[in-house]
Amino acid sequence: MKLFCGGAGREVGRSHIIIDHDGLRFGMDAGVKILEDRSVEFPILQDNLKFLILSHAHLDHSGYVPVLNNIPIFLTKPTLLEADVMWKDYIKVAKLNNRKPDYNIKDLEKVKKNVEILDYNVWNSIYGVKILPIRAGHLLGAASTYIEIKDKKIIYTGDFKYIDTELIQKAKDPPKADILIIESTYWYQDHTDRRLQIEKIFEVVDNTIDNGGVALFPSFALGRTQELISILVDKYKDRVPIYVDGMGKLINKVYLSYKDDLKDKSFDKKLKYVKEVDRVKRHKITDKPGIIVSSSGMLEGGPAIHYLFNLNRKSSVILTGYQVKTSNGYRLLNYGKIKLDNTELKVDLPVYHFNLSAHADRKDILAYINKVSPEKIILVHSDSSDIFEEELRSELGYDAVAIGTGQWLEL
Ligand SMILES: [Zn+2]
Ligand SMILES: [Zn+2]
Repeated sequence: MKLFCGGAGREVGRSHIIIDHDGLRFGMDAGVKILEDRSVEFPILQDNLKFLILSHAHLDHSGYVPVLNNIPIFLTKPTLLEADVMWKDYIKVAKLNNRKPDYNIKDLEKVKKNVEILDYNVWNSIYGVKILPIRAGHLLGAASTYIEIKDKKIIYTGDFKYIDTELIQKAKDPPKADILIIESTYWYQDHTDRRLQIEKIFEVVDNTIDNGGVALFPSFALGRTQELISILVDKYKDRVPIYVDGMGKLINKVYLSYKDDLKDKSFDKKLKYVKEVDRVKRHKITDKPGIIVSSSGMLEGGPAIHYLFNLNRKSSVILTGYQVKTSNGYRLLNYGKIKLDNTELKVDLPVYHFNLSAHADRKDILAYINKVSPEKIILVHSDSSDIFEEELRSELGYDAVAIGTGQWLEL
């Protein structure tokens, strides 16, 4: 048996793994990687793929799936609905950036004809490969996959979170397996205590609205927007209006349809307090105290940029996600400015950064590895997995490989 890494090998983005068993080839995820100049890197594909399993709807895992629309795509129902929103936005953004989209709306229809819907903890079988999706935490619908092929047992984690968040239940304890393909984004650090981060966020919001300002949360549309609603509504619903703008509005509807899958059983009630904002209303909510949750999370687009320059000057910007070094979020945090069409613009508002990560941290990754107790570990989804490989090998005695993108590996 062989494994090919078509993306996310010693990098984050364009996740794509292929397993080849005597010529029977199938894949896990097919994502894209969006670069600083807004150009896109695709995964490296191989011919004769028989089917694909999609772990979740973030574009770094799902963005290239519509190109593979002629084979069965296994995914959960919420992932399909979320991915549909993401794919349509991807097509729109490509056009805005004068880039030829890699697929169009018709391709999305073809994907929908070829999907095979997965349910957590229910076995599926195709070409003699047995597939068991297990809850991954991370996001509504996110699934790790347990695969049985001949006498080998393989787990592909996708992105996972191994503790509960306010909104989402943690990843299910994995079974033992021979081979573990694991995301290792935060292998090098433990996250700061989540409860403390939330307390600090409340402090900033309290001060901002007491001063008459607006608390702006630039936020990823898929996942973080809903998490923030879950965190903020009860505390602030009677004090200030809470608004949501951008693509998160569409994702909220998917979360609402699957409210029983959420850990936060009052998400649907909370959502009733959240007012949706559109292009017209956008100009009317910047003067009075309030909370706005709006895409995008790194200020690379979306209505959040509009708010940066239109909020009253008592307002604050609160970032809660990872900020890539080349992103506007990073520039704002470190230099107080952002770049639009190659022009640098100064932003005259206080900026805060808190960590509400939806990924496993170091102790969670090690705990997960321990549970699976695999013969071989393949590290993906990290820029520095080679250092982790070395540590796992020399200090913990695991046969670990920080596979590179484009690399084949004998299993
Ligand atoms: Zn993800
Ligand atoms: Zn990812």
